[in-house]
Amino acid sequence: MGTKNSAAIRVEHDPRWARVRARDKSADGEFFYSVKTTGIYCRPSCAARPARAENVAFHRSAAAAERAGFRPCKRCKPDQAPIAERQAAQIAELCRLLEQSEAPPTLDVLARHVGLSSFHLHRLFKRVTGLTPRAYAAAARAVRVRRALRTESSVTRAIYQAGYGSGSRFYEKSAELLGMSPRRFRDGGSELDIQFAVGACSLGAVLVAATSRGVCAILLDDDPARLVLDPERRFPNAQLRKADATFMGLVTSVVELVDHPERGQTLPLDIRGTAFQARVWRALAEIPPGTTATYAQIAKRLGAPQAARAVAGACAANPLAVAVPCHRVVRGDGTPSGYRWGLARKQALLEREAAPPQQRRRKSASRTT
Ligand SMILES: [Zn+2]
Repeated sequence: MGTKNSAAIRVEHDPRWARVRARDKSADGEFFYSVKTTGIYCRPSCAARPARAENVAFHRSAAAAERAGFRPCKRCKPDQAPIAERQAAQIAELCRLLEQSEAPPTLDVLARHVGLSSFHLHRLFKRVTGLTPRAYAAAARAVRVRRALRTESSVTRAIYQAGYGSGSRFYEKSAELLGMSPRRFRDGGSELDIQFAVGACSLGAVLVAATSRGVCAILLDDDPARLVLDPERRFPNAQLRKADATFMGLVTSVVELVDHPERGQTLPLDIRGTAFQARVWRALAEIPPGTTATYAQIAKRLGAPQAARAVAGACAANPLAVAVPCHRVVRGDGTPSGYRWGLARKQALLEREAAPPQQRRRKSASRTT
C-alpha cells in the first residue's frame, strides 16, 4: 500500500500527468503514457477514460513504451502518425488532384478517393484548408492564371488562356468562389464594413481589401487559398462582404500598381496601425520609386535614431504591400533584407523600379499619398 501511494504521488506531481488529465493535444508526440493494469499505452490526448495515477508510467517514445512491454491503444493509435497528420496528408492529396484537374471532380469522387463519406470529407476539407473543395478548385484555377501571367504580357490574354471567358468574369468568379460570401462577425460595437477580393498579379495572388475610406490591405501570396483566410484574422470585428463591380476597378488598379510600382501609388488608402506604425508607413511613402533607404535612415527621419529595430518591425507589419513601399527599405549594407511577402518579391519590385519599361512617364516623380 505504501509503495502504491508513493507511485501515485510521484505521478500526480509530474507535470505530464496534468497534461494527460487535460487531454492536452499539444503534448502529443512529446511523450506517451502507459497503464500497468491494461498493458496499453496512449497519447496524452487519448479520449479513453483516465487511468489511476498509481498505474501510470510515462515514456519518451512509442518505441520505449513497447520495449517496456505495452501495446498501442486502439483508440488513439499512438504507434501511428497523429490523426490530424494523416487527415492532412489525405487532404493534401486531394488538393493536388484539384490543382491538376481542368474540370474539378465532384465531391463524391473526391470522397471515394480517400474512403470517406462526402459529408465528412466536406467538413474535413474545410477544416484543414479553410475552403470548400469547390472554392479550392477555383483558387487553383486562379493560380493557373498567375502562371499564365508570368509568360503572357497582357493580363487579359492570360486570363483568357486560363479558361475564363472575360477578365471581369474572372474577378467576379474569384470573388464569388474564394469563400467571400457575406459573413457576420461577432463584435463589441464598432463595425467595420470591408469588401475584399482576390486577383492574380505578376507576383502571385493578391488580396485587396477596402473600407469606404480606402484600401486597408494589399496582401501577396503564392496560394490564394491561404490569402482569403487572412482578412478574418486581421479584421475579426469587421463585416466582410463580397466585392461589388466598382470594387473590381480597385483590384485592377492594385494589380497595375504591383506590375508598375515605378509609376507611383495613387490609390485611396485607409491606413490602420499604431501611431508609430502610421508614422513609419508615411515616411516609407516618401522614398522615391527606384531608390532605397535603410531602417536607420528612416528612424533618423522620424527623429528617433535609436528606433531602427522598431522601424523594421513596422515594415514587417505593413498590411499594404507595394502601396506602402516597405520593399524600398534595405539593410545598412544596402542588401535587401527580409520582406513580409518573400525576398523574391522584394527583389522583383526593386528591379522593376530600377529598370522600368521604356514607355514609363517620368511624371510620377511628383507623387503623393
Ligand atoms: Zn489511447
